[in-house]
Amino acid sequence: MSRDNTLQGKVALVTGAGSGIGRAIALLYAQEGARVLVSDLDAAGGEETVRLVREAGGQAVFARADVAQSDDARALVERAVQAFGRLDIACNNAGIGGDMGPTADYPIEGWQRVIDVNLSGVFYGMKYQITQMLKDGGGAIVNIASILGQVAFANAPAYTAAKHGVVGLTKAAALEYSAQGVRVNVVGPAFIHTPMIAALESDAPTEQALIAQHPIGRLGRPEEVAELVLWLSSPRASFVTGAYYAVDGGYLAR
Ligand code: NAP
Repeated sequence: MSRDNTLQGKVALVTGAGSGIGRAIALLYAQEGARVLVSDLDAAGGEETVRLVREAGGQAVFARADVAQSDDARALVERAVQAFGRLDIACNNAGIGGDMGPTADYPIEGWQRVIDVNLSGVFYGMKYQITQMLKDGGGAIVNIASILGQVAFANAPAYTAAKHGVVGLTKAAALEYSAQGVRVNVVGPAFIHTPMIAALESDAPTEQALIAQHPIGRLGRPEEVAELVLWLSSPRASFVTGAYYAVDGGYLAR
């Protein structure tokens, strides 16, 4: 199933890989020769991703994990090492949209859940991934933030804050570990066709308004995000660390 085999011999972990962008990343990693630990809260979605990888001739195993639980994040790294012997690449992709509403009306529990999953989840993941990568002689981490890691979206205060936080966390870890061989970068997609935005897309005027924010004239596809993540994860990006890369159809250029 090879393209360029840029990840031949590498072991990769992807969270939230049972759907959308994470599934596309897991499939592309495997297509490029990596052995992939597919993880998700949703076991059925994760197992389906593993099936798709194997059907295409790649290697993957599934492990269920809630990224908001630090014990799960640690166990996930242990599972990757148990299954494949090491960890070279991690993509912290799992995330939720969360409640919508203005800051003064935003529910406290809703705030906490978005921060737990979208921000603390990335911290827990990196904490254990970096520890393992240092033992294995280096690695590459790609965190999935959003255009909302750079600009705000009204009525999404928790999501906007969490994604801005992921950008900051990425930069801090890059400063700390790049000299030891662990590169850390962050990708910011604009609106991408996945189940996360299905509700927005189901309303035609809302969908048209969203499309109008993207100078390219359409929303993105998960595979288009995966191509950037692949490059950042591969040795081809050997001098790239601590950087935010948009894959946004021009959204941030306006
Ligand atoms: P998606 O299709 O909803 O996929 C997200 C996956 O993550 C789902 O399988 C979900 O499982 C899982 N997940 C949710 N909470 C989890 C947790 N606590 N632990 C482990 N897995 C969990 O969404 P997507 O659009 O691919 O989003 C992937 C990432 O891209 C997210 O970080 C998102 O914020 C970011 N992003 C998306 C867009 C977009 O427009 N789609 C734009 C910018 C950034 P369940 O289905 O069981 O919840």
